[in-house]
Amino acid sequence: MKAVILKKAGLEPLLEVVERPVPNLKSTQVLVRVGAVGLCHHDISIMDGTIRRGVPENIVLGHEIAGNIVEIGSDVSDRTPGEQVITTLTSSCGQCEMCLKGSEYRCVYGLGFGHKLDGGLTEFIAVDARNVFPVSSNISVVEASLVACPIGVSVKALYDLAEIKSGQTIVVFGAGGGLGVHALQVASDVGTNVIAFTTSPHKLGELEALNIGQVFLSEDGIDPSELVHAFTEDRGADIVFNPVGSALLHSSVSSVALSGKILILGEIERPSASMNVTELMFRDASLIGSTGADLFNIEKAISLVESGSVKPIIGSTLGFEDLLEAYTLVKRREPIGRIVLQP
Ligand SMILES: [Zn+2]
Ligand SMILES: [Zn+2]
Repeated sequence: MKAVILKKAGLEPLLEVVERPVPNLKSTQVLVRVGAVGLCHHDISIMDGTIRRGVPENIVLGHEIAGNIVEIGSDVSDRTPGEQVITTLTSSCGQCEMCLKGSEYRCVYGLGFGHKLDGGLTEFIAVDARNVFPVSSNISVVEASLVACPIGVSVKALYDLAEIKSGQTIVVFGAGGGLGVHALQVASDVGTNVIAFTTSPHKLGELEALNIGQVFLSEDGIDPSELVHAFTEDRGADIVFNPVGSALLHSSVSSVALSGKILILGEIERPSASMNVTELMFRDASLIGSTGADLFNIEKAISLVESGSVKPIIGSTLGFEDLLEAYTLVKRREPIGRIVLQP
């Protein structure tokens, strides 16, 4: 079978399509024929060399994996060949203290697909049955690839960490990106007032077409928090969703309401933020980091997508062999939502 490997990380990463044997199936695993893989900013950070720790040589990237089961191990009873499935973001053991308390993403023995363990940019992948979820075949395989990440990741941050409630006001930065465009849908489904910001003029039309809250183009010289305060009678936002990182840390703190929560889910630039901590302190506000999605977050994401409450937003679909082109497009922040790669 064919697989795409990362030969060398760097600003111009070196990729290669190689021939690999189809994996041997363990008794607890299922073999998935990969149909689509979302290209996450995590993959981009491994490709450009920002993330190096724990990444083995010649890694197969991709943790946003959807496909169909073609074979099941002898001990697997709850999955059937032919089913459309998505994978979790990491392989988990199901038995350690983290798994037992439901934090499977933080499994003590967990290995992230496309990071420590080969990921989805290959024709077949063997995955433990506990790490796949069925997704209705009414959802296309391309759309299904985005359910665990970024949709499940948005669910974890908003539901578990920010404890989002109807009637709250939420600011979503980076609203045209993969996390932002799905987070604003998850938030809207709860019944919040959404104030969204994008720096990309070409994404504005599509964001407005989602018909969710207010969408603004971030403009040089105007801090987004000024608009947030103008639209909230100077209260600020209960939740600030920041997938951009340092570059918007100051604006995030200035936008948050008393006792509000700021969620940090990404770092687009190299870390370089400084902030006035008293602003956080005098607001009784919380700054919360969040990555990943646990099993029940993924189950929630599946129900949101299957019910039509959240629509996976696909910027474009390309072939596995077009990974470098996709990397360049993401670096230029061109696509709205996610680029999805197909074999
Ligand atoms: Zn991802
Ligand atoms: Zn575990």
